[in-house]
Amino acid sequence: MYFNEIYKTGNEIKYIKKALSQQRLQGGEMYSKKVSHLLKKMYQAKQVYLTPSCTDALEMMPLILDLKPGDEVIMPSYTFVTTAQAFALRGIAIKFVDVDPKSMNISINCIKKALSVKTKAVIVVNYGGCSIDFDGLLPMLEEKNIVLIEDNAQGIGSLYKDQPLGSIGHMSCLSFHDTKNITAGGEGGALIINDERFIKKANRVYHKGTNRQAFINNKVDRYTWKTLGASYLMNEISAAYLLAQLEDLKEINDYRRRIWGIYNNELKALEEKGELLRQVIPQWNKHNGHLFFIRLQSKLKREALINHLRRKNIPAYSHYEPLHTSEAGLIYGGFLGKDRYTTKESQCLLRLPLNNHLTSKDILMVTDAIKSFFKGDAYE
Ligand SMILES: *Cc1c(COP(=O)(O)O)cnc(C)c1O
Repeated sequence: MYFNEIYKTGNEIKYIKKALSQQRLQGGEMYSKKVSHLLKKMYQAKQVYLTPSCTDALEMMPLILDLKPGDEVIMPSYTFVTTAQAFALRGIAIKFVDVDPKSMNISINCIKKALSVKTKAVIVVNYGGCSIDFDGLLPMLEEKNIVLIEDNAQGIGSLYKDQPLGSIGHMSCLSFHDTKNITAGGEGGALIINDERFIKKANRVYHKGTNRQAFINNKVDRYTWKTLGASYLMNEISAAYLLAQLEDLKEINDYRRRIWGIYNNELKALEEKGELLRQVIPQWNKHNGHLFFIRLQSKLKREALINHLRRKNIPAYSHYEPLHTSEAGLIYGGFLGKDRYTTKESQCLLRLPLNNHLTSKDILMVTDAIKSFFKGDAYE
């Protein structure tokens, strides 16, 4: 049993072959256009940029927003390294704040307390394809003219009320890495722009800091260096692979949600006995089954359970190490307010295997193994 395993639709090879018969394979060709178009429709976005990774999409953001050293951004400490690194690379101060333990999403109350005149953006991470209650945050950010960014790397296909996650912030990003619900052949990402004001700058950042987009649109007869940017285009082979996956997104997510549901039902009794807590889907979300986690009573219990499962060849993993205590996080960031949950809960959290190759029988094997752990078999 694998923790993650790529789902293959069967159309990837067909589309890649067709891509190979084209004259060009650079970014922006037929498959890139098709995928961008589909995503643009799905998110009702102002613009979509396919990138080589979600990390690249994140790195474009401070350039588009023209953030400078001295500016501050607020984000959870409980996130992937590159959420913070994209901003640290530009000399921006990272202000980490605490999470809500039920969803492990950033706490709106902690954001409110951390806002300062230097705050230029708030980055929320849609952890496991779930979100904060945006309506409780947006009016305040609007009033202070602060940009809302969604790190939606894990959230493709999830909803907040009836809006797709990733369409609520001024901009958001997606990841098409191997470990996400759909992939662009191992690596890939996208930047979603929901506010018209940022398009002109985003075009330039995307095309290596030039006005090449204006050249492509026949607005100028040559292009030159205009601003800071980099090589942020996804290649055509990856886009062909991604199209096949995107076409099956609904089936892929439906299946993952079913697996999620089995875990949720099977582990209910253990929660009632006080042995563990199950991941909670906030009432404002429809989730995409990206991951299923439980929270144990202590780090020790979690390590014992991991070992118990490993002996039965079941892979189960913790997740993020809090960034504010990491070697780089100590230099480039700081924690604001009290760390009530981030460290403690990250030490007790355990993710269970979830992918499109697992059957309900596989999931019952996992939940039976967890039940046997709490019956004391682990200590036999
Ligand atoms: C996966 C992930 C990323 C990075 O995505 P890549 O495509 O691998 O660069 C960033 N943020 C979060 C929250 C992620 O889960």
